[in-house]
Formats: sequence, structure tokens, C-alpha cells
Amino acid sequence: MYDSIVIGAGIAGSVTARQLAEKGNQKVLVVEKRDHIGGNCYDRPDDYGILVHEYGPHIFHTNMEDVFAFLSRFTEWNLYENGHQVVANVDGRLIPVPFNLNTLHMVYEKDLADTLEKKLIDAYGEGSRVPIMKLRENPDPQIQAIAQYVYENVFLKYTMKQWGQTPDEISPEVTGRVPVLISYDNRYFQDQYQGVPADSFTEMFARMLDHENITVRTGTDAKEILEFGEETIRLEGQEFKGHVIFTGALDELYDCRYGRLPYRSLRFAFEHLAQDDFQDGHSVVNYTVSEDFTRITEFKYLTRQKDTDGTTIIREYPFAYTGAPGEIPYYAIMNPDNQALYQKYKALSDRLTNMHLLGRLAEYQYYNIDVMTKKALELADKLI
Ligand code: FAD
Ligand code: UDP
Repeated sequence: MYDSIVIGAGIAGSVTARQLAEKGNQKVLVVEKRDHIGGNCYDRPDDYGILVHEYGPHIFHTNMEDVFAFLSRFTEWNLYENGHQVVANVDGRLIPVPFNLNTLHMVYEKDLADTLEKKLIDAYGEGSRVPIMKLRENPDPQIQAIAQYVYENVFLKYTMKQWGQTPDEISPEVTGRVPVLISYDNRYFQDQYQGVPADSFTEMFARMLDHENITVRTGTDAKEILEFGEETIRLEGQEFKGHVIFTGALDELYDCRYGRLPYRSLRFAFEHLAQDDFQDGHSVVNYTVSEDFTRITEFKYLTRQKDTDGTTIIREYPFAYTGAPGEIPYYAIMNPDNQALYQKYKALSDRLTNMHLLGRLAEYQYYNIDVMTKKALELADKLI
């Protein structure tokens, strides 16, 4: 009845399903345990008609033309003219993040800032992107002082909240996502395309999954209908020989038999306010030296919604995922021990020759939407 089964209707699963169905002319069953499609990109209007991102703020950004073209088949965009911009609240003062030359001139007086700017450009080149952990290694005492300022005021407390560890303790790739910019660029991402779908992410997913060869079953955990044996996969009792693309957490698929893979989770606190504006036009403010939450997003500015009745904000409170009911694993914690544990689970699934692991959870990786889309397009091509 089905040629392929895709588990999870997030970006990884939805892109793969569409390609298999359309390009590969395969009958595809999509199984999603939540009661909606879209995975963590899911958005919906709240009780006040304001479009909110249920699982935290999502901004699409990419330099990949093929990814942008593919997703653009299913949505128009609200592209940000000046890019996505973020500020950090440092003791009540708002400074641009990533730390860049504008920030430098805000935190140091003019003569010193001019000297430091020249030093940074001489050391790294104009326009370069320097991870904070690299900047800290610079032997020049003045550059070290900047690095220390950025480390203490931008990274240390935010990272402690987000990961429960200091920037020195986590994989340098993580803080490397927000490098110090040796340029006057206040954008959070340097990608060419940045924005959100014009209608909503959920609409984009709905159009992607709307194909005669695709059947979507939400509210169904794959484990209710599929059995993952040593060498075969069974669908409702019968051996299923088609492709199975799994995008969920691999340890949970195998009942955590080797122990849980560690993840960070988030508690999202939404609040609607009967006022026009909360953050003075800023869509995202990071709290890098104070508070228990990492950041506040004001949705009307993120989604560029106009004429809203009041404003809705969200605070993000990180915590260690325990697997308790209702918790969602959001971030793989990448370190050698965890990767080794992941490999044990992967070895189990590798014995199933028709099983394919794809996605932020299934691959235990820190992927953005665009990379996920690219990987899904590539996997589908391989399977067609
Ligand atoms: P998911 O979106 O997690 O989808 C997996 C789906 O599989 C889920 O719907 C889940 O319910 C389902 N599933 C799992 N197990 C089963 C099962 N056993 N049976 C059935 N269904 C199952 N990326 C960006 O590019 N820009 C951003 O601004 C951005 N912001 C982010 C903010 C936050 C707070 C987080 C957590 C992530 C953010 N990301 C962002 C990353 C983005 O969410 C991921 O890249 C993307 O969601 C990964 O897609 P996915 O399909 O792999 O996973
Ligand atoms: N980070 C930080 N302060 C900031 C922004 C980021 O310390 O103001 C660190 C933090 O460790 C975070 C990482 O950089 O987890 C990556 O940030 P990014 O915004 O890319 O994380 P995302 O929310 O997209 O997963």
C-alpha cells in the first residue's frame, strides 16, 4: 500500500515525503506523534490573533539557492530587509549581538574603540568572523580585554542558562554560531535570505504535504504501528520492505536500552500584554547577564504582523531533558561521550537496511532549517 514511511512531520520528514511522493512517484505514509504537522517550526494564531511559534522563535535563513527555491514553491516570504537583528540586555543597556564593531564603539570610548578596531582588523581582516573561544586565545592584552568583555557580558551567563555549562565546557562549535564580527554588521545571521513565511510556517508545511501520494497520520506514535526488529521492520504485523525514514529521537525508539541520550529542553512561557509594544521594536532581546530565562521574543516584530491587538511575548527557560511526559528534547548536547552513546543506537538501526536516519534528533546534531532541508532533498534523491 505504501512505498515509504516517514516518521515525523517536521522539516526533515515533510521535505523528504514531498520529494518521494512527487519526484519518486511513491506512495508515502507520514506518521507524526504530535497532533499537528511542522515539528518545531509549527506556528499558530494565539487567542488574540497573534501568530506565535509554539516551540520558540524560528527564522528561516540561508545562502543555499536550491533550498530557498524548493521551499518557495510552498510559500511566499516576509524577507527581512535589514536581516534579523538581536540585542543583548546588559545591565539594562541594549547592545547589538553578535558583538561587532558597532558594539565595540558602544562599550568603549571613541579613541580606545578606534585603536581596538584597528587592532582587530589588523589581526583578523575586515569582515571576518571570529569565534569567541578563538578571540580569547589572542596574546595581545588589549584584544584579550575585548575578548574578556564579550565572554563575560555576552556568552558566560547565557551559555550557563542554555547548557548548564560554561562556554569552555561545551563544544566550541556552539558558541561559534555567534562569532564576533569584525564589521559594522548588526545582523544575527549573514545569510542572503532571512525571514519567515508570509502566511505561516504551518501553511508552508500544509502545502508541502498536500499531495495525492501523501497520507499524513498525526496523533500517532510510530511505535504504535511499527515494530523495529533486529533485521526487519513490521507495519501492523506485516514485514515492511519499503524505505522508512525516521526523524525522531533514536534512543527513545530503542526504549533507551543503553541509557538516555542527553538533551537540553526548554520551557516556553507565553504572555499576552494589553499594550502596543513591549521591546521597543526589537523582535528578540537576549538576557546575557541577568534573569533565569535566556531571551524574550516579541512575535509581532518577528513575524512582521501589523495592526495587532496588544502584543504577545515568549520567555525561554532552559532545563535538562529527563524524558518525563510532556517534555521535548530540543538540543543534542554534543560531546565525545554522547556521540559514542549515539553511535551505539545507530549501530542498532544500521542493521535495518531499509531504515534511514534524518533530522536534528535522529542524527543527534545541531541543524538549522536550511541544512535540514538540504539533507532531506539529498536523501530523497538517493532513495528515488
Ligand atoms: P523536528 O522539527 O523536531 O521534527 C521531528 C518530528 O518528529 C516532530 O514533529 C516529532 O513530534 C516527530 N516524532 C518524533 N518521534 C516520533 C515518533 N516516534 N513517532 C511519530 N513522530 C515522531 N532553525 C532555524 O533555521 N532558524 C531558527 O531560527 C531556529 N530556531 C530554533 C529555535 C528553537 C527553540 C529550536 C529548538 C530550534 C530552532 N531551530 C531553528 C532549529 C529547527 O527547529 C530545526 O532545524 C528543525 O526543526 C529540525 O527539523 P526536524 O524535522 O529534524 O525535527
Ligand atoms: N550565545 C550566548 N549569548 C548570546 C547568544 C548566543 O552565549 O547572546 C551562545 C549560547 O551558548 C548559545 C549559542 O551561543 O547556545 C548559539 O546561539 P544560537 O543563537 O545560534 O542558538 P539557537 O537558539 O539558534 O539554538
